[in-house]
Amino acid sequence: MLSKIKLHWQILIALILAVAFGYYLPDLIPYVSWMGDVFLRGLSMIVIPLVFSSIISGVASIGGGSNLGRIGIKTISLYLSTSLIAILTGLFLVNLLQPGVGANLGTAETIQSLPTAGTSVSEILMRTIPDNIVDAMARGQILPVIFFAILFGFFITQVQTEKQEILTKFFNSIFEVMMKITMFIIRFTPLGIFAIVSKEVARNSGSLSNIAGSLGIYMLTVLLALIIHAGITLPLAVKLLGKSKPYLHFRNMATPLLTAFSTSSSSAALPLTMEAVEHNDGVSGKITSFTLPLGATINMDGTALYECVAVIFIAQAYGVDLTVGQQAIVVLTALLAAIGSAGIPMAGLVMMTIVLTAVNLPLEGIGLILAVDRILDMSRTTVNVWGDTCVAVIIAKSEGETLNV
Ligand code: ASP
Repeated sequence: MLSKIKLHWQILIALILAVAFGYYLPDLIPYVSWMGDVFLRGLSMIVIPLVFSSIISGVASIGGGSNLGRIGIKTISLYLSTSLIAILTGLFLVNLLQPGVGANLGTAETIQSLPTAGTSVSEILMRTIPDNIVDAMARGQILPVIFFAILFGFFITQVQTEKQEILTKFFNSIFEVMMKITMFIIRFTPLGIFAIVSKEVARNSGSLSNIAGSLGIYMLTVLLALIIHAGITLPLAVKLLGKSKPYLHFRNMATPLLTAFSTSSSSAALPLTMEAVEHNDGVSGKITSFTLPLGATINMDGTALYECVAVIFIAQAYGVDLTVGQQAIVVLTALLAAIGSAGIPMAGLVMMTIVLTAVNLPLEGIGLILAVDRILDMSRTTVNVWGDTCVAVIIAKSEGETLNV
């Protein structure tokens, strides 16, 4: 009977049940949390082989240098410009609402346990090039894997036809198998999400009910900016640039978006995102397998926006008046921090240390916003994934594909 209900409805029901379960029966969480762990392990198990095989087969089928160059430049420009618009939306709202002015610094949590990014901007760029691809894979670092896979896929097109065919068939086949495994894991999404969300609700319900004053306004500022970006800017882009129907596209994306929301991880949602964009929207495998893994790693509109709002909130709370020049630095470093953030929970919070350092703000400021990070992480991750899918649709349309949206 359950299997007759569409997957995204199953997930939605699981989410609602999870909130009630986590809130009213926190003592029972240990009995269900294993389901969430199994689900997340399953997803992270397939991410690296999926990304590797999908990028290789995508790039190899895009073909010669000029095609790859064209699609690559279009994709990266769209990723950068949508992230920049997201940051500017956040910048505008945080200056308008000024949530940090007059904030009580006594509410700061200590951040002893918080790892700092410990990297500079140049290191982020450098990390893209792996010094050992096997090591990068073993550590689950997606960006270097993407870099290597793009090179590999491109040079497949440069070898003799016979070898080219063998390799293309080989990686296409691996990719197909990975997608089948993905579809198998997707069936367990409602159970996984039930366990993950009920655990988070049990853990955070106490702190969330105490949120008042500045922190509450800060949270609303981030959420409002995310809603404007996801609900107005991106749909407009899909409509005007992609000549597609944003609402239909949104409906098709329900499963990956709910998964992104529940797991706070673009990487965990990636297999589901690829499946939905290809099968529901009808975007070709060539485009999805190149744009989406790249997007899950470097295109984080929600994170970029959040970095900017959070840092300016912290500046306001410390009574530091940032000049226009300093705000420009915040905008640029927020963009880089978002590009450098891994698609995992809390990555954006860790990368924020780069932005804070760039404008000489105390890293302890992160303690101010810790209490509401999880709920904002869930929200920004959803926008991150939504942004990737919108760009995939626009690129597919610009390449002359006929879609279902
Ligand atoms: N959790 C986010 C993601 O996976 C990254 C972040 O922390 O902002 O997309």
